[in-house]
Amino acid sequence: MSFAEVLEKSNAPNLRAGLDEISISRVERTLGRQQVDFSDFLALISPAAEDYLEVMAETARAITLRRFGRIVLMYAPLYLSNECTNSCLYCGFNVHRDIPRITLDLNQVFDEAQQLKKLGFGHILLVSGEAPKYVPVSHLENILNLLREDFPSLSLEIYPLSYPAYVQMVDAGADGLTLYQETYDRDVYDIMHPAGKKKNFDWRLDAAERAGQAGFRRFGIGSLLGLNDWRYEAIALAIHADYLMKRFWRTQVSISFPRLRNAPEDFNIPAPVSDKSLVQMMLALRIFLHDAGIVISTREPAGLRNSLIPLGVTQMSAGSRTEPGGYSHPSEEGAQFMVDDHRSPAEVADAIHRVGYEPVWKDWDRVMHEGYRNAAYNQRDAQGSNR
Ligand code: SF4
Repeated sequence: MSFAEVLEKSNAPNLRAGLDEISISRVERTLGRQQVDFSDFLALISPAAEDYLEVMAETARAITLRRFGRIVLMYAPLYLSNECTNSCLYCGFNVHRDIPRITLDLNQVFDEAQQLKKLGFGHILLVSGEAPKYVPVSHLENILNLLREDFPSLSLEIYPLSYPAYVQMVDAGADGLTLYQETYDRDVYDIMHPAGKKKNFDWRLDAAERAGQAGFRRFGIGSLLGLNDWRYEAIALAIHADYLMKRFWRTQVSISFPRLRNAPEDFNIPAPVSDKSLVQMMLALRIFLHDAGIVISTREPAGLRNSLIPLGVTQMSAGSRTEPGGYSHPSEEGAQFMVDDHRSPAEVADAIHRVGYEPVWKDWDRVMHEGYRNAAYNQRDAQGSNR
């Protein structure tokens, strides 16, 4: 069964409506359990659980220490282009916005990557808007081939690709794929994405399965918090992550919590998410999905990021620039969004140390990618490579 079918069958809107009926005694029966089922997870994201975040934090901390130890993987985004053919209402790269448009050529990408290498990063996330004319699959392939010797891990955060194109990406050296559905509510999705290829909800929803079959080793999923009721998004994310972890058991699934904080002036955030709600969502997902990574980006301010580290965070970006070329030539123009944590990577690493955790700049070796890729070939064969 595809994830789209699973989501449909789950009747997430009904599950969401039922959260308001969950009692405090139901929440208390769940608290302190190290292993919870999906109905317990629903109790943990209910309004009734709001006053129990400290107990949930203790459980989440213990689970994370047992499963991941005291480490936080550091990564940085590298923006390849701010060209985009879509018109997502909330985004600074929206085709209708009047910003300087830049697409990096191979030399510029190399220069940006060298800046990140000097800062210590071994993991980089290559980011681009949806503009295949400017950033075609062949350009991505050339970039991966250019960088693969210098970086043990290269992930992509780009427009959804076909199965054969994902195979090309894995074979060129990409090991991770981040793709946020933005919202799992079809009606809200339709409003937020009025035109462009991104309007196709199912093409995007199905992308993780195409990528899984192609052999990516890491997946990042997430909802853009602020677009829709966060409790509905938490339910859908839990079902999605659980589905991917079972179906692609070799793949590390991570959940990101990108939260709209500084939206473009002409966009009112429809369902703002408070710090408290963000924490409740993160803790509940950690307690339900022990093996899922948890990612907090520089969208969040330094103080909040510091306090989240011991609660279950496994990956953090640092020193991020969201405009193409921004590491070599910082600019306030042409950025996708404003970051809120302006500390340098070294300062973030220091903050991680100070709360008793270890920043890790590399947790994967290129040689392991080759072994993994060989396993992916077998997987592709076994599944008939029919996507
Ligand atoms: S969110 Fe992505 S697809 Fe939408 S306008 Fe921004 S860059 Fe383009």
